[in-house]
Amino acid sequence: MNRDKVLATLFEHRQLTKLEISRITNLSIPTVTSNITSLMEDGLVDEAGVANSTGGRKPKIVRLLPNSRYSIGVEITPSKVKLVLINLFCEIQLRKEFSLVELKTTSGFRQAMVKMAEVIQEIIKELQIPSECIMGIGISVPGTVNRDQFVLELAPNLGVKQFSLQFLKDMFAFPLYIENEANAGALGELVLNKQASDDHTVYVSITEGIGTSIMSKDGFYKGNKERAGEFGHMHIGNSDRICSCGRTGCWELFSSETALLTMYKEQTEIVQPNLVDIMERYIASDEDAQFVVKKYLYNISLGIQNILLAIDPKQIIIGGELAKYSEHLITELRNFVFSQAVFHNEQDVEINFSTLYTDSSILGAAITPYKQLFLTDEE
Ligand SMILES: [Zn+2]
Repeated sequence: MNRDKVLATLFEHRQLTKLEISRITNLSIPTVTSNITSLMEDGLVDEAGVANSTGGRKPKIVRLLPNSRYSIGVEITPSKVKLVLINLFCEIQLRKEFSLVELKTTSGFRQAMVKMAEVIQEIIKELQIPSECIMGIGISVPGTVNRDQFVLELAPNLGVKQFSLQFLKDMFAFPLYIENEANAGALGELVLNKQASDDHTVYVSITEGIGTSIMSKDGFYKGNKERAGEFGHMHIGNSDRICSCGRTGCWELFSSETALLTMYKEQTEIVQPNLVDIMERYIASDEDAQFVVKKYLYNISLGIQNILLAIDPKQIIIGGELAKYSEHLITELRNFVFSQAVFHNEQDVEINFSTLYTDSSILGAAITPYKQLFLTDEE
């Protein structure tokens, strides 16, 4: 416990003197010293230089060694599997990804998971990392999960339900974790985005679908069976298209990245538009792009208004590719939200795009093994 406390403190501050660690953790100097010795023996920290003294002997600085441990994050999306290897400072050391073709079946998904395991084994071999230096693998999936049973319960966008990932655990010598995509994203935001607060914050992940996660000081609000926050499937209007969940009118049909591409395609008859092109045209005041993007931001605002009504948050953080264009979108989006949000005004709620862009979820997944080891719930 005390060792974890010391490690968690060093994780947050990177380097400190023993006295500073003692003050932050409320542990005695001898306790700090013995735990530092144990962490040094395990190669997690070393002593580097001296701090300025206020009189007497100059205190030694203890620092966390970034490349002493690693973790692997995996993000499964309907079109690809993305992987990162991060070090103990959560810096990305390596990225890989592969496309998914015939995913929408159970056997297609199983094949993709086997391939994912092979890619991870290749990464470890390529970088010659001893398996005891790998803290684990965190997997983010767009659906509801049972973390204890290691089961992907329902992922409409992947076309799988009640899929056990247990077989993957036999393939590795270190622990594996599974997390809902939006909850992983929220964890990534909390640990790595300095602007993110854990106080009544809703994280909205806009990718091929929409996922949301609700955070408060007590931790994540996950509901009775961890199904809370499926705002992507709340009904916001009428549409003929059927959602992957089988209903019509879901928010993600209007506001996912896929929805933007569809809207733009219908407006312009450009066969394969991509987000970068659309946004470049929007910024250059292209008429079609302006029309479509504004309508799309309005669609996003409808869902956000409902989230305000349901949750009364202090902060909403929006992650995804769109976040890269924050400066061109945020004012318009806020205007749409607050022009009709009668119970809330702009001073009550901060709405921002993520500074981690598309990496919140994969980094959150990668952090999960560290979280099990030494991050407390609040962190
Ligand atoms: Zn739906």
